[in-house]
Amino acid sequence: MMAITYPVVEKFVSINGEGLYQGYPAVFIRFAGCNLACSYCDTLYANNPDCASERLEASQLKDYVIDSGVYHVTLTGGEPLLQPNMEHLLESICSIEGCTVEIETNGSVEIAALAAYRKSHNVPFIFTLDYKLPGSLMEQHNRLDNYAHLTKGDAVKFVIGDLEDFNRACSIVNDHDLTGLTNVIFSPVYGKVSSDKLVEWLLEKGMMQVKVQLQIHKYIWDPQTKGV
Ligand code: SF4
Repeated sequence: MMAITYPVVEKFVSINGEGLYQGYPAVFIRFAGCNLACSYCDTLYANNPDCASERLEASQLKDYVIDSGVYHVTLTGGEPLLQPNMEHLLESICSIEGCTVEIETNGSVEIAALAAYRKSHNVPFIFTLDYKLPGSLMEQHNRLDNYAHLTKGDAVKFVIGDLEDFNRACSIVNDHDLTGLTNVIFSPVYGKVSSDKLVEWLLEKGMMQVKVQLQIHKYIWDPQTKGV
């Protein structure tokens, strides 16, 4: 039988720049390929499914995590949920004692099957699910049916590029009672919306259950730096 492998563009240890584990040291595993083309994408080098990558088995990735000595793992892309057999990899990495695993997904790929697997097999990873706002030029791709599968441990992230994006984000949060379902993060597009302006809008609008988050890796390193 052929071993299951995954196309990994890069893997490295850094700190989590965003999400619920922001600030913790983390292992990043970036998979090749994305089905979207967001206006602000900073990982274009990983988005072509045929980009340079190495095919690694779940056991090799698990060993990499163990050898790193780091216990937060972020699976990212591209779009990691385009990969088949993701449950196999999740089960492998989540079996590392004390390890937390986060999947960063763009919100356009159905999560129902993986969420059901998480529940039935008690595999404790979390989803950080983007909602693509108008400024991304990808809004038509959002799958709102995914929200039915989120838990209080997951997060929906809105990357906000202007006031139109902000107002749309507030409408989506309120219309779907997202803060009642899960964690909600508003993050400004680096260089497009200042953090003080975003906080001002948030308070004016009374969005008191929403967490504002800056992508801290863009402040620690040069914003164009890859692999951090
Ligand atoms: S979903 Fe993420 S990886 Fe894909 S184009 Fe958008 S920002 Fe880039």
